[in-house]
Amino acid sequence: MKEFELIRQIQQQATPPGTGVILGIGDDAAVLEIPAGRHLVAATDTLNAGTHFPLETTPFDIGYKCLAVNLSDLASMGAVPHWALLSLSLPDADEQWVQSFIQGLMSLAKLHGVSLVGGDTTRGPMSISLTALGSVSPGLQMQRSGAIPGDLVVVSGTVGGAAYALEQLQSGDEVQEQHLLDRPEPRVALGQLLAGHANACIDVSDGLLADLSHILEASVCAAKLDLEKLPCSDALAKVGLEARYRYQLSGGDDYELLFTLPPNSLEKLVDWRRQLDIRLSVIGEIVDGSGVECIGANGQPYLIEYAGFEHFGVNG
Ligand code: ADP
Ligand code: MG
Repeated sequence: MKEFELIRQIQQQATPPGTGVILGIGDDAAVLEIPAGRHLVAATDTLNAGTHFPLETTPFDIGYKCLAVNLSDLASMGAVPHWALLSLSLPDADEQWVQSFIQGLMSLAKLHGVSLVGGDTTRGPMSISLTALGSVSPGLQMQRSGAIPGDLVVVSGTVGGAAYALEQLQSGDEVQEQHLLDRPEPRVALGQLLAGHANACIDVSDGLLADLSHILEASVCAAKLDLEKLPCSDALAKVGLEARYRYQLSGGDDYELLFTLPPNSLEKLVDWRRQLDIRLSVIGEIVDGSGVECIGANGQPYLIEYAGFEHFGVNG
């Protein structure tokens, strides 16, 4: 099968084009109508086989995940997703593979009203790059730099479950919660609710501490984290405390939203929980200084010395 036949197949699977698509797949470029009075929000992420997903991942799940990670980035900005562009580098033109890959991608795209409007298909080592485009009301985008001392630190869903599943998979153990690894749920609706309320927001892709540190560095402040409050998946709840904290704090691939809210927002938090039926856990607070101070179950500081994370003390 040749490249243009693959593209035709992708085009067939990608229909019907949704709102704002003046011209989709099939021309030299797509033509899109940005909703009136809104700003365009753009994110792109590449998944390389073996690095960003295990080699045994099904094509359906790879398709799902390459869109999910990008929708998660748009969600953390508070954007409404609209369109996607897909760059596929594949070792061979495997029609079956591409078909289930696009099925996976479109299953999530339909859920969020996202249209696949273009891309590129080439031969090479497997690499998938997706660009997601969305929109936000001018000035309402959430950024990493807006956290203020006194803010509550909140995280959606649970953290650590994907990293735990990956470790089980890699060590040949039974994987209890593989969906946390293969089918992360981008928090698109939550992001839109938070826009205009949260002072800062990021999606947790590299691990809670690493991503919290990005907020703290951009906002020039520190955080205190109450480790007992970290939300835990069912499988991870059975793991010993020390290992559990390690997964929750430094495991990656959670794709949850981590955000800071003014302290008088607790009522809103209750509303959002009810409205979206998701967990939203207050796990700490923003304070003056730099770095993260973790408080353990006994109320005492808990020292973290994980690879990939530098522990800074809170001062000031
Ligand atoms: P060109 O050579 O002009 O860049 P292509 O032959 O690469 O055009 O692509 C033809 C059409 O198919 C374009 O509209 C392009 O956006 C679309 N396309 C190519 N590959 C993909 C893909 N993997 N996913 C979605 N659309 C694609
Ligand atoms: Mg062209």
